[in-house]
Amino acid sequence: MISFYPGPSKVYDKIPEFLSDAYTEGVMSINHRSKECMSMVEQTIKLFKEKLEVPKDYEIYFISSATECWEILAESFDGISYHFYNGSFGEKWFNATKKLKPQTIGYQFDFNKELKLGELDLSMEKGIICLTHNETSIGARVTNKRIGKIRKKYPDHLIAIDATSSMAGDYLKFEVGDIWYASVQKCFGLPAGLAVMVCSPQAVKQAEISANNLHYNSLTSIIQNMKKFQTTHTPNILGIYLLNRVLGEIKPITNISANLKKRAKNIAELIDSKKEVSLLIQNDKVRSDTVLVIKGKSSTIEHIKEKARNNEMILGNGYGSWKNETFRIANFPAITNKEIEKLTQFLTKNLT
Ligand SMILES: *Cc1c(COP(=O)(O)O)cnc(C)c1O
Repeated sequence: MISFYPGPSKVYDKIPEFLSDAYTEGVMSINHRSKECMSMVEQTIKLFKEKLEVPKDYEIYFISSATECWEILAESFDGISYHFYNGSFGEKWFNATKKLKPQTIGYQFDFNKELKLGELDLSMEKGIICLTHNETSIGARVTNKRIGKIRKKYPDHLIAIDATSSMAGDYLKFEVGDIWYASVQKCFGLPAGLAVMVCSPQAVKQAEISANNLHYNSLTSIIQNMKKFQTTHTPNILGIYLLNRVLGEIKPITNISANLKKRAKNIAELIDSKKEVSLLIQNDKVRSDTVLVIKGKSSTIEHIKEKARNNEMILGNGYGSWKNETFRIANFPAITNKEIEKLTQFLTKNLT
């Protein structure tokens, strides 16, 4: 079976080998405050920055999930949180923040259009602008260029970006944002249970000014611990080790994203040539390269998913309000070009 599910998704083919190495090397039993662990964390961060082109002055933190990050952000910064969303994950983030900070503001925008700067009407001079880089539920994204424009217009706000289904697949221009985060069970091709947060110097400074350390996972505590390459709690050491090994193997992000873009274009053209299905996101400027969402009658969708299963392939179910009328394809780096080819041949043959 090949899984094209957009999370948890196919892991890199070398994971079994890395797991076995982790056991032999004793990684599963090392203490998280030991020298070995600290140096492993340090090296992982170094590799992370190299492979994903993260600016040198940005910091990397390890947490458990993207959902945890929603809570960390809500608890760690003063000021109003402004959420711009067009799908389920962005909306969930908004709702999670609103529970903790009732004055949180949410704006919904058209998923077939770019987020317009005119739509941003921020009442306060400070605060956090929250965006979903890659909306996994519908396969839409906000471009680096658009985020750059928001940065220019609002230089004093922090910009927080959920890049869970694009980081390590799509090229991210980290300079234009302050807090980028992702869980590793999507484009990193790793098992779930670990997430990364990439923070700008401005985000670190703001967190330190807010000085909220009421919670075990408050950002100020996370920052303090990471100065020694440690975490507030015993982290997912095995997950960090696997991340380290995967980062050691993968190509630089510009190569990875160029390959995914080509594959996404092929799939999009194939779907465009079919009558019974269409791309949910018609505007290619805001269409994701890492998650493709295909729309059709629910009977068509049901049928193609079942047929795929019979051909040893798992297509992702639709999500949220699009559950029955769409299926999703993860175009993640751990899926090989050959596997994508097998999928496109299948779709060519079985869709009219
Ligand atoms: C998968 C996903 C999440 C949730 O990730 P968890 O690891 O379950 O917390 C959040 N946001 C986006 C955009 C996602 O794709």
